[in-house]
Amino acid sequence: MLYRTHNCGELCKKDIGKKVVLSGWIQKIRNLGSLIFIDIRDYFGIIQLVFSKNLIQNHFDLGKEFLIKVNGKVVKKKSKNYNISTGEIEILVSKLEILNPSILPPFIIEDKTDGDEECRMKYRYLDIRRNPIKNNLILRHKISIEIRNFLSKNGFIEIETPLLINHTPEGARSFVVPSRIHSGKFYSLPQSPQLFKQLLMIGGIDKYFQIIKCFRDEDSRSDRQIEFTQIDCEMSFVEVNEILLFFEYFIKYIFKKIKNIQLEPFTCITYSDAMTKYGTETPDLRFIIKILDINNFIQKNEFEYFQKKKFIIVINVLKCSHYTYDQIYSIIKSIKQSKIEDQEIFWVKFFPDKTFIYSKKKLFTRENLVKIINNIDSNPGDLLFIFFSKKIQTKIKLNKLRIDISNCLNNLKNYQIFKPLWIIDLPLLEWNEKFQRYRSFHHPFTSPKKEDIHLLEKFPGNIRAKSYDLIINGVEIGGGSIRIHDKKIQNLIFKHLGLSIKEIKSEFGFLIKALEYGAPPHGGIAFGLDRLLSVLEGKGNIKDFIAFPKSNSGKDIMVNSPSFLKEKKLKELNI
Ligand code: ASP
Repeated sequence: MLYRTHNCGELCKKDIGKKVVLSGWIQKIRNLGSLIFIDIRDYFGIIQLVFSKNLIQNHFDLGKEFLIKVNGKVVKKKSKNYNISTGEIEILVSKLEILNPSILPPFIIEDKTDGDEECRMKYRYLDIRRNPIKNNLILRHKISIEIRNFLSKNGFIEIETPLLINHTPEGARSFVVPSRIHSGKFYSLPQSPQLFKQLLMIGGIDKYFQIIKCFRDEDSRSDRQIEFTQIDCEMSFVEVNEILLFFEYFIKYIFKKIKNIQLEPFTCITYSDAMTKYGTETPDLRFIIKILDINNFIQKNEFEYFQKKKFIIVINVLKCSHYTYDQIYSIIKSIKQSKIEDQEIFWVKFFPDKTFIYSKKKLFTRENLVKIINNIDSNPGDLLFIFFSKKIQTKIKLNKLRIDISNCLNNLKNYQIFKPLWIIDLPLLEWNEKFQRYRSFHHPFTSPKKEDIHLLEKFPGNIRAKSYDLIINGVEIGGGSIRIHDKKIQNLIFKHLGLSIKEIKSEFGFLIKALEYGAPPHGGIAFGLDRLLSVLEGKGNIKDFIAFPKSNSGKDIMVNSPSFLKEKKLKELNI
């Protein structure tokens, strides 16, 4: 049987007159009495069918999501829809066949849906029929191909590493898998292939990569999943600068290929500068927040409004002077959310031709405004928000403000500005209150900076690591480090993390042994593929980029996992 001569997205004006066979799911039915219009959809697009009443009369049960096959002729459409590729034609149907009926779908399967997240997750296969999800999966496929092409062209080879391993200390809890054969023993699922990629370098592989699933048993959030995908990379004979240079080139390549955006050179700052300047290790450079002393700008007695205020807080959103009032008000709403006093917020559109318009004209003179603009280094094309405060703001409040604005900008769909930033020299160790000892900031295989090793005994918290994170628009996209390839230093770090000689031997004996065989200097990085996609598309929710994601509580509502095991199975596993 021939299901189709064409798909639902490929016919257009030049096909008028052709006889065709099409198959697709019914998206919409409009009954105009003598004529009935039905839109059918498949992976490729959507097309309008026209039925005479006679043809359809035996099919009164037709409904949404029925899969039908039609024979018909391509004809010109009267009222054209230029938004879709098939919008200038329609199919005059001569034969209709139902390939498979459908029960009533639980939500509207169109770009805009009425389905809430839980319902869409339960019927994910229906959700995938919708363009927004389908297109994200296509994008994911495209980016994976580009990643593989780029890395292979640059000498990386993709090598698979095992999934049933031992615990890898990446700072989270591991998932465990009971072993049937080795009664009472467990495998762990990798939090990352960290040690395997290091062992590959010791095995003489020069450059490795892998697009791999990793597993971390932690609470899910909108930007976190218990199983997620990493673009995991490692290189031999490199130092920090070479890694930063190469992976900046990599990320620029991806943005150019996928979004046709040429990224500017990445900013690079140390962890300690990031904390002092922005109060966070993931600053969003799409906007700048500055606090200025009001006395430097405004003659206080000029207006009553300024009498009790002491500081001006200015938020400069880069390159957004073209924003509509709706967009401006959604940013104002997010600023208000952070509850930095209850202030009136003024906005200034500083246009590319250096003219500006602003709200609340009565309160500002143009001269004052020019002074403010000059003082926060804003550029023509920027959008400013200004408000006044009685006291200097605490870091916590400013941080909340930063997060709220970041989230808001991510939700503004047409926001196509990307500000990548390397954070380098992160701490090697951090104090853990709960365990009352130092723990690795990154992971225990990260190399300290040579010049800081002497601090190990007295000031372990002050040691800087040869590590780096890549932040784009306030989201951590990736991170990595130069690894320890010297057995003595590795042992020393393990010791400072509180591991006894016996524990080092039992947990990491294989690594220490491998380091004894002329291990090369090496380093690497891992990027979160799901997060990279969500940042590229300006969205906060990584679930939209995963075919079958878990819910926020780590469940797969569709297949109902996790689930209980039968007593018999538990016995077999000795649990
Ligand atoms: N394994 C590290 C992680 O998953 C990345 C790296 O150091 O390459 O965060």
